[in-house]
Amino acid sequence: MWSDNFLKILRELGIEEIYVEREEGREELLRELYNSFKDCKACPLHKNRTQVVFGDGNPYSEVVFVGEAPGEEEDKQGKPFVGRAGKLLNEALKEAGFKREEVFITNVCKCRPPGNRKPNRVEILTCIKYLNKELEVIKPKFICCLGSTAVEGVLGRSYSITKVRGKVLKRKEQRVFITYHPSYVLRNPREYETFLTDLKTLKRML
Ligand code: SF4
Repeated sequence: MWSDNFLKILRELGIEEIYVEREEGREELLRELYNSFKDCKACPLHKNRTQVVFGDGNPYSEVVFVGEAPGEEEDKQGKPFVGRAGKLLNEALKEAGFKREEVFITNVCKCRPPGNRKPNRVEILTCIKYLNKELEVIKPKFICCLGSTAVEGVLGRSYSITKVRGKVLKRKEQRVFITYHPSYVLRNPREYETFLTDLKTLKRML
């Protein structure tokens, strides 16, 4: 997608409509991918889940937001970030200039850990292949990690979130932007402004 500045320039030039030819088939590739692991029992997280929670959103998005794992509401509804943390994320995305339906949102682990605990290293390493495949299909300009578990899954090692928050790191040829997990912001409302500033920074970089 184009930046707001570029679109403004086009409007100033009198161009009101643009026809875009884009590579087709990502929806189909994701559908095939999700069919391939909807019954996955590769790690112990399958035992307590209601269903596997796949990524959701626009497969042509320039940014993929990655969280930790589904919570109770996500496990029930089968969609990522639909509980309280999801509402906060939606609000912040909107304020930062993103539309939720225009971005893609997913998790490092696709099944709900019991009691919403953090997924352990083995669970992350077992499930990460599915996130990697989503990223191979979508090829985003930026991966936005929401919290430390996402960072661990995406970059393959742990970082202190306070040291890497707001920074861009590299993962092969992809750029990885890091901010807080919305659940952390819910528990620490004073961090909302920082979270919002991060999302605005990300929006500017696209
Ligand atoms: S968390 Fe991932 S690896 Fe584990 S059972 Fe669910 S889909 Fe399979």
